[in-house]
Amino acid sequence: MRRAVVAVAMAVCGFSRLASAQPVTDLDPRITNLVGQVSEERLVALLKKLESFGTRNTLSSVDSTTHGIGAARQWIFDEMRSYGPRLQVSFDTYKIAKQGRITRDVEARNVLAILPGRSQRRIYISGHYDTIAVNGGQSGSNAGTRGRDGIVVTQPADPNAPNDSPAAGVNDDGSGTSLTLELARVFSQSGIEFDATLVFMCHVAEEQGLMGAKLHARKAKEAGIRIDAVLNNDIVGNQRGGNGIVDGGSIRVYAEGPEDSPSRELARFVQRWGMRYVPSHTVRPIARPDRFSRGGDHSAYNQYGFAAVGFRESREDFNRQHDPRDTFDGLSPAYLAQNARVNAAVAAALALAPPAPVVLNDRGQANINRAPSGYDAHLTWTASPGAVAYRIFWRSAWGPDWQHELLVGNVTETTFPNTLIDDLVFGVAAVDTLGHESLVAPYLSAVIDSTEVKTIP
Ligand SMILES: [Zn+2]
Repeated sequence: MRRAVVAVAMAVCGFSRLASAQPVTDLDPRITNLVGQVSEERLVALLKKLESFGTRNTLSSVDSTTHGIGAARQWIFDEMRSYGPRLQVSFDTYKIAKQGRITRDVEARNVLAILPGRSQRRIYISGHYDTIAVNGGQSGSNAGTRGRDGIVVTQPADPNAPNDSPAAGVNDDGSGTSLTLELARVFSQSGIEFDATLVFMCHVAEEQGLMGAKLHARKAKEAGIRIDAVLNNDIVGNQRGGNGIVDGGSIRVYAEGPEDSPSRELARFVQRWGMRYVPSHTVRPIARPDRFSRGGDHSAYNQYGFAAVGFRESREDFNRQHDPRDTFDGLSPAYLAQNARVNAAVAAALALAPPAPVVLNDRGQANINRAPSGYDAHLTWTASPGAVAYRIFWRSAWGPDWQHELLVGNVTETTFPNTLIDDLVFGVAAVDTLGHESLVAPYLSAVIDSTEVKTIP
């Protein structure tokens, strides 16, 4: 095990001594170039095509070539295939039984494109392509009424008939779907060989309870597939709130806790690297699974133990959600393009980086102690393939954001003398020769099981 005893001055010495092996820059010009390939015009064309299907309700028609979910999923499949030979495009098909909001047995298909990397570990960019319209829309739901504000939506009386009532779903979630398609194009045509495998996923049956995402996440879990990150985009295309307040300069990123959960580390990564490559846009991490009374497909991945965050526009117009009025004229394409650029930067930065170091021992305990003096912070970790350096992060154990960072060399342990491990949270990320940085692996205190005290009656 290579070892560094680090006072700050010593670390700086070590840094210059290892200069040839150290990253020379934080930003990779290939990522900058890739981000620049995101096209607002192409997003507009994709949104208008998605709108043209009239509805993409999971229970809508499958036998038309122009209308309903059957036509929509085939078009998404063909569109991703058209981006070139590097993408492996497929349907991920399930037979969902009648239950809850699924009023009859139905065949449901996620549509995905895989861009293989050097390793099997996966990073997802996703949205849901299905749509829904209900009486009163989301504004009616918010007000606790149905039909007070929205257009009346007629559902078929026969539950076995296709539900083809208008539900264009251009923002919910044509925005996330078009973003996913555009990034499938940009990544697969970039010429970059990524370390991680990228998956561009268009989920189905989100509106009936995250069903497409749950079924896929469960299958991945059962197959032992490693998913390092899911960037889920749902309602990310409109900057004008229904109350008239406009915010085209920021995006919210929801992440479930606790505070150093894998999803929170992913949200921190999104903010750090998204804003480095797209400084004109502000990433606002939100320490919460989602908005009140709302859900999204990232939560399905969380349920199966995967790191997943939900991107949400900053100001929503509830009058246009789950409502026939969710049409193209409610979109802000320049804003959607900015959100797509943030996704592109984050996914590329993560897919080029080494995997995160392992900081837990075989029993799941963090490899941190007070050695050698008994009053020091002593951190060890397992080396990551491809890493030439590691970056240590720390902060007060009262607060969400990393406050300090220090690049150390190609070592697997470090010591901060006279430093209270009990008052700080530490983490470590792996860094490669070009400065690509992994997710941060945090040193967490173990959860202690409560044992009952035996008493004598
Ligand atoms: Zn949605």
